[in-house]
Amino acid sequence: MGKLVSFRKKSNQSSAQKTLKRALPVYTGTDEQLVRRRKPVKPLQIIKPAVIEETTRNFIAAFPGKVLYAVKTNPHESVIAAVAKGGITAFDVASIEEVRLIRACAPKAEMYFMHPIKSPEAIREAYYRYGVRHFVLDCEDELYKIIRETGLATDLKLHVRLALPKNSGASIDFSSKFGAVPMEAAALLRKCRTVSETLGLSFHVGTQISDASVFAQALSLARNVIDESRVKVDVLDVGGGFPVFYTGENVPSIATCMDSIRKGLREAGLGDMELLAEPGRALVAEGGAVAARVELRKGNLLYLNDGTYGGLFDAGPLLGTRYPVRAVRSEGVFEGGTMDYRLAGPTCDSLDMMEGPFALPADIRMGDWIIFDNTGAYSQTMRTAFNGFGRCDTALLV
Ligand SMILES: *Cc1c(COP(=O)(O)O)cnc(C)c1O
Repeated sequence: MGKLVSFRKKSNQSSAQKTLKRALPVYTGTDEQLVRRRKPVKPLQIIKPAVIEETTRNFIAAFPGKVLYAVKTNPHESVIAAVAKGGITAFDVASIEEVRLIRACAPKAEMYFMHPIKSPEAIREAYYRYGVRHFVLDCEDELYKIIRETGLATDLKLHVRLALPKNSGASIDFSSKFGAVPMEAAALLRKCRTVSETLGLSFHVGTQISDASVFAQALSLARNVIDESRVKVDVLDVGGGFPVFYTGENVPSIATCMDSIRKGLREAGLGDMELLAEPGRALVAEGGAVAARVELRKGNLLYLNDGTYGGLFDAGPLLGTRYPVRAVRSEGVFEGGTMDYRLAGPTCDSLDMMEGPFALPADIRMGDWIIFDNTGAYSQTMRTAFNGFGRCDTALLV
């Protein structure tokens, strides 16, 4: 027994500590220069801490409340360090592994456990070992679980997660994975009020939104839920979803999103509540790039050494994100203008395809590299070892 316990303790610490100790190669200059110098044989993840720091600082300045970083977007320790340097003091964590990671990387940071479904073990460890007090929930059974696992704690700060109607057309559809529908949310707020030191209401409009008015609509719904609950709600969490521009899509700017939030708060009369946001993508996407090598060309189809099972999941069939791309050749120049390409990842799976289209040099060939910009969010965190192709290297560009 004693052996088992000490083994478990040790492995808990080592995963976080190992991550911290890995020293990364640091480069200066542009990412084209980095690729020419390094000639990466494996896919290369490039992290730009100064970009992340600045983007974070700008977001914090634009948002009228406290900003939490959604750790799942990119949990790399140099990304955590960069958002912290940019002013983030609190993190949205969704698992006990993320709790451990943040404690190891940012020991003083506050953590909000924002996954509505938590294991009893995770609640206990988060509360007792890591001092987590903020927990989200979207149903009564989870409330009882939290109360039980924290030993009827009197210092909980609970947040009720509200489901939002699908914002396609006029039909009201509460079919998302998480969240309580308005009547349930109001009843839950009432129940939580009796055991919660501070009480919050939260929602998440979904990722990479295309219409900023979803924030104002959600705030109006939040107002109704708060009224219906007839209890004092202290904190309002507007979630994430703030978009990033890739190629060709029409997305609102961060400033437009903030205008929608301000308008929604004003119209709903919620202006004096404490506000939270939990962006992921908007803080870190622009601070990351992926360099992949062209292994073969067949006409307008390029086979790469990274793909949808690697760092380019979002470019695959599900989302079809068209990351901005640049081609790099180690010696010589590209000629003949550009043309549209489809890209294929290295695995044998037919889902490992990125239809784009991606505009690249007409004379691109095997041995050239492609740099995918704005891949700091939901890229490395989705990487798998499928087919033995998962490995990539990481470099810091300062
Ligand atoms: C993923 C997630 C976020 C971050 O979303 P982005 O679109 O990256 O800003 C915020 N809140 C919740 C609840 C999430 O699940």
